[in-house]
Amino acid sequence: MNTLTDITTLRINGERLWQSLMDLARVGATAKGGVCRLALSELDRQGRDLVTAWAREAGMSVTVDRIGNVFMRRPGRNQALPPVMTGSHIDTQPTGGKFDGNYGVLAGLEVVRTLNDHGIETEAPIEVVFWTNEEGSRFVPVMMGSGVFAGAFTLEQAYAATDTTGTSVREALERIGYIGAEVPGQHPIGAYFEAHIEQGPVLEDANVTIGVVQGVLGIRWFDCTVTGMEAHAGPTPMALRRDAMQVAAALMQEVVASALRHGPDGRGTVGMVQVFPNSRNVIPGQVKFSIDLRNSSDALVEQQVAEVRACAERLSAQTGLPVAIEAVSSYPAQPFHPDCVAAVARAAQRLGYSHMPVVSGAGHDAVYAARLAPAGMIFIPCKDGISHNEIEDAQPGHVSAGANVLLQVMLERAGVMG
Ligand SMILES: [Zn+2]
Repeated sequence: MNTLTDITTLRINGERLWQSLMDLARVGATAKGGVCRLALSELDRQGRDLVTAWAREAGMSVTVDRIGNVFMRRPGRNQALPPVMTGSHIDTQPTGGKFDGNYGVLAGLEVVRTLNDHGIETEAPIEVVFWTNEEGSRFVPVMMGSGVFAGAFTLEQAYAATDTTGTSVREALERIGYIGAEVPGQHPIGAYFEAHIEQGPVLEDANVTIGVVQGVLGIRWFDCTVTGMEAHAGPTPMALRRDAMQVAAALMQEVVASALRHGPDGRGTVGMVQVFPNSRNVIPGQVKFSIDLRNSSDALVEQQVAEVRACAERLSAQTGLPVAIEAVSSYPAQPFHPDCVAAVARAAQRLGYSHMPVVSGAGHDAVYAARLAPAGMIFIPCKDGISHNEIEDAQPGHVSAGANVLLQVMLERAGVMG
C-alpha cells in the first residue's frame, strides 16, 4: 500500500480508539462519569505514564521538554524532515469529561497504531504531543505548555505560577518527574493538526459530523464601572436620579447588539455584575460589570470594541454619569492555515462525512502551534454541545470519523509515496 489512492481506503480502528479513551478516563474517574485529572497532579502523572507506555508499545520514542510537554515520535523515511504533529492535552477541569483534549491525543495515537497495522511508512516523521496544563484550572495561564513552546510567555513565568496551596509549576513538575531536558520551542514542527470535540452546539444542531475549523475567535476582555449616586428609591423622582444601573443596563444591551451586528461569529457577553450597594430600595450608586467580546477577525472584534466605547461615551454625555472601561486582556484571532483548512475539508469530503466550516470560540493548543507552523483543527460534535462537565459525551461514530479525517490529513502532509 503506497499510493495515495490506497491510502484513502485506510480506516482507523474505532473500537480500539474508544477503548483507549475509556481506559484513560479511568485515571481520575468521578462518580458522575467524568474525569478529574488536574494538571501536574499525581493523577496527571498516572495519565501521562499510561499514554507514554502506549506510545512505546506502538514503537514510538518519547521526549519531554522543560515545561513537561511530551512528544511521541514515529520515525519517517526522511528523518531530516520536520515531523507532522498532532495532539492536544490530557489534563482536565475538576469536573471534566472523557473527551476534551484526551480525544486529540488518543486519535493521534490511533493514527500511529493504524499505520503500524498496515506497515505504512511515511516520508516525514509523525509526532503525537500532549501539552502541559491546557485547562488552566490548577495553574494560570491556560494553554501553558504550548504557550511556553510558542514563546507567548517565558519558562520562568510558567514555573512561578502557583496553585491555591502555594505549590509552583516547577515543584509540581519535579514531583511527578516530568521536567525534561529539551528547551521548549526547540523542536521543529512541519505542520500541526488537532482533533477536538466542538465544546459547542453548532455541529449537533446542524446534524453535521465534521467541523472544518477556520480559526479561533479573537477575544477582548474589559471591566466596566458606571458611577452614579445612591439615593432612596421612594422620595427621589426619576428626573433627579443618578442611577448607575440604568446606564449600565443600556450599555450591556449594546454589548449584545454590537455582537449581533457583526455576525455570524460576533459574540458579546456580560457574565459578571456587581451592584453597589445592592439593596432593594436604594438607587444603585455604582455598577461594575465584565465585557467579553469575540469575533473571527481582529478587525471585527475591534469594531465591536469601538461601538461599545462610543455607546459608553454617549450614555455618559446624556446622563452626566462617568463610565470607565478598562481593558483586562486581549487574545488575537488566530485563523488557521488555508492549506490545512482545505486539507481537512477535502479529507472529510473524500471519506463521505458531512462537514461544514466552523470557528472555535474556545482557545486550544493549536492556537499557539499555529504561530510556529501551518496548523488546522478537526471538530466533532459533542452531546448537547456540553463540555467542561462530567456529562460531556460524544458518539463513537463521530469519534471514529474525526480520527479518520486526522489520519488522511496526516498522511497527505507527511507523504506516503516512495
Ligand atoms: Zn481541550
